[in-house]
Amino acid sequence: MKKRFWAYLVVVIGAALMVSIPVSAACAPAVKPEECASILPGTWCRGEGLWGILGIILDIMTMGVGVLATIGIVISGIQWLTSRDNESQVAKAKSRIFNIVIGILFWALLWLLLGWLLPGVISFEDPTGGTPAGDCPPGEWESLQPKPPSPGPSPTPPGDGGTLPPGSETSLPIGNPKADSSNIACDPRTVDLGVHDGWNNGVRTFYRMCSIPNLSSTTTAGYMAVLQKAGKTNLSGKAVLNSRVAGAVYSMAAAAKADGITLTAGSTFRSFEWQRDNCNLSSSQKDRLNAQRLTGKVDRICNKDSKMMAPPGYSNHQSGTAIDFTRSCNNGPAKGPCNTAMYRWLKANSTRFGFSQYVNEYWHYDTRNFKP
Ligand SMILES: [Zn+2]
Repeated sequence: MKKRFWAYLVVVIGAALMVSIPVSAACAPAVKPEECASILPGTWCRGEGLWGILGIILDIMTMGVGVLATIGIVISGIQWLTSRDNESQVAKAKSRIFNIVIGILFWALLWLLLGWLLPGVISFEDPTGGTPAGDCPPGEWESLQPKPPSPGPSPTPPGDGGTLPPGSETSLPIGNPKADSSNIACDPRTVDLGVHDGWNNGVRTFYRMCSIPNLSSTTTAGYMAVLQKAGKTNLSGKAVLNSRVAGAVYSMAAAAKADGITLTAGSTFRSFEWQRDNCNLSSSQKDRLNAQRLTGKVDRICNKDSKMMAPPGYSNHQSGTAIDFTRSCNNGPAKGPCNTAMYRWLKANSTRFGFSQYVNEYWHYDTRNFKP
């Protein structure tokens, strides 16, 4: 029983050595981070030239001694364990362990002596202590440590100068209409609704949304969530578009009004939920889409006619750059012409404001043909 206990102890000590011996890290003068990293990332640094090479050789030898000693102790321990009461076997194992321990002590003494004689080769600072180890230049040791993951994108907080002063009205889209508009102010004639997430070609993109006071919208379901988030439910009934096109749309509606035409919109900005729930997706497709959505990138899935309904994440309505005008030609062909005063006016004038009709839907106008 007693013998067995000692044998177990030897095996445990051997295993502990296996873990602890190979660590003999140090930082010598003039260490460059990339050299440290190329030896062993984040744990070893060595000086340049001969010092560095000597240090590496010493480390390899230390590791070799450690590995050999550990293997020897473990084997001897197992021999001891399995020897039953064979006295000569036990004696052999004991003497081998004794020799190994003497060997380790001898190597440790030699190592300490070398460290004292050649301080550029071995230094005794603890590399895992969290402070710059050895003689590493300030900051270089830190640069080797593992970095925390960088935080993901976060929306620009709303209300940071989202509206422009009078005199800065625009009649054309600002830059690429579908690009992030979180830092583009709403035209002074429109109302800032803050920054919200929208989608551009399957990729989540942040847009500042603006309510257009001179363009009524009969379909508010697609952007009620935006209005509610902005605390402005009293604006429902007005078109909502992103701040890159809000001024152009206001100008377009004002120009039509001057010509005696009142533009009226159906769907303008649409939420992800609206586009998703109008695509006839199966429940498993919906689950897959909802999971993808969290990653900020979604695949094209929609079970409706692709010409008439874009997959969720891919509609120009989701970037706040599209307007469906009221469909007064309900019984007419999808492509038009729809011969009402509003549509005649739009056909003739919308391009002056960066908008054009989508060929498959006479009611849908967006910025796809606009060149900044
Ligand atoms: Zn549309």
